[in-house]
Amino acid sequence: KKLNSSEFRQMFLDFFKEHGHMVLPSASLIPQDDPTLLWINSGVATMKKYFDGSVVPKNHRITSSQKSIRTNDIENVGKTARHQTFFEMLGNFSVGDYFRDQAIPWAWEFLTSPKWLDLPKDKLYCTVYPKDTDSFNVWVKAGMPADHIVKLEDNFWDIGEGPCGPDTEIFYDRGQENNDVAEDDPENFPGGENARYLEIWNIVLSQFNHLPNGKYVDQPHKNIDTGMGLERVLSILQDAPTNFETDLFLPIIHATEEMTPGKKYGVNKEDTTAFKIIADHVRAVSFAIADGAFPSNSGRGYVLRRLIRRADLNGQRLGIKGAFLYKLVPVVGKIMQSHYPEVMDQRSFIEKVIKNEEERFQSTLATGLTLLDDLIDKAKKSPDKTISGKDAFKMFDTYGFPYELTFESAQDAGLKVDKKGFDAEMKAQKERARKARGDLQSMGRQDVTLMNIRDKSEFEYGVYEGPHAKLVD
Ligand code: ATP
Ligand code: MG
Ligand code: MG
Ligand code: MG
Repeated sequence: KKLNSSEFRQMFLDFFKEHGHMVLPSASLIPQDDPTLLWINSGVATMKKYFDGSVVPKNHRITSSQKSIRTNDIENVGKTARHQTFFEMLGNFSVGDYFRDQAIPWAWEFLTSPKWLDLPKDKLYCTVYPKDTDSFNVWVKAGMPADHIVKLEDNFWDIGEGPCGPDTEIFYDRGQENNDVAEDDPENFPGGENARYLEIWNIVLSQFNHLPNGKYVDQPHKNIDTGMGLERVLSILQDAPTNFETDLFLPIIHATEEMTPGKKYGVNKEDTTAFKIIADHVRAVSFAIADGAFPSNSGRGYVLRRLIRRADLNGQRLGIKGAFLYKLVPVVGKIMQSHYPEVMDQRSFIEKVIKNEEERFQSTLATGLTLLDDLIDKAKKSPDKTISGKDAFKMFDTYGFPYELTFESAQDAGLKVDKKGFDAEMKAQKERARKARGDLQSMGRQDVTLMNIRDKSEFEYGVYEGPHAKLVD
């Protein structure tokens, strides 16, 4: 079936609505009452209050399309076909209501019924936990060919204590032509890391309680949570080789092409990756800012800073001059508007925040990049193939390159970075800043304004403030 992104998102929610679920809007990307989590990274992360019993939902069957950010996938973006930092997770949840006997057949029905996605059954595979014969049997009964069910030891979700259980994941066979590895490679099976079998949906069957004494007992109220990658399924529906050639990304990519001196998406690998990174990162930062995050030097803010600077670095590689990422905000806003009005609603604010952050970086980006290339050349010739901590720190301190940017570029070139050395430089700088502040205080100055400026100065923590920043005016 050829569906656009809004139609597909709506179809998923409609399916579960027809099966008695209440449709909840996406929660904020910023966790509301979970200090342990930097970003909402899945649908279930927003449902904790229902699953732990602290809030009783009006309906024990819930469905949603949840905005998610995964920073652990930053380096996958543009390299794999299937990862972004920002993506939408479609999910259905049973809070002590139905269990696998319904969750699995519904998944199968949604994927294969002509009324719904109508995917070819012979392209679908799943993995189950080897001891979870119940799931195996329910899958077979639903219609999954038994030889398409792969037993996988990893399919058990357990954080050490509390609710846990097996999961069962659904894969789509993109065909041998999409394979990264040979047919007889052990990685060539659903659950492996290759591009042939695309993981599309994870069904978590939370049925046990892991007790402090190590025993597993049955939970009185078993729960279901599932997560389906919207962009991944869309890539199948739209015959796209990766998530990026879908209607969620192409307009962003085309708008980016317009800003380059004639670079085209899909011509060579390097440029194509840069286009993908920019398209992903602008979505992530637009939505994160819409939800109240702000570039800074720690926590969420640091992630934003890193994403914006990384996007600009890739823009530079495509020959784009000056701040540009902010110009893509309305493109993102328009694509997502039907389900997520927040980016369009706050468009000019988001643009300003991104532009401001870009301008801080842009003034030194070109020279920084030249120096980085020199450092890489130098390290390639060095016996230990390593960029020194001092050099990495200079990239950070003088040119505003977050450590990770230098690290990733080094890694791409097959090099290492002396992280210990970098940390030592950072520590020394903080110490210098602390001393300077101490000296100032000891001067007994009463100038409140000056003290305030200094207290607020992020430079103290080693943040790059532009080429003309001074510690004290
Ligand atoms: P993968 O193994 O491909 O990294 P995962 O096992 O980490 O995926 P889950 O935690 O099971 O993913 O999340 C549920 C679903 O969300 C996945 O089956 C996939 O469809 C989607 N998904 C997960 N991570 C991403 C991502 N970075 N970008 C896009 N979709 C994702
Ligand atoms: Mg993953
Ligand atoms: Mg996986
Ligand atoms: Mg998974």
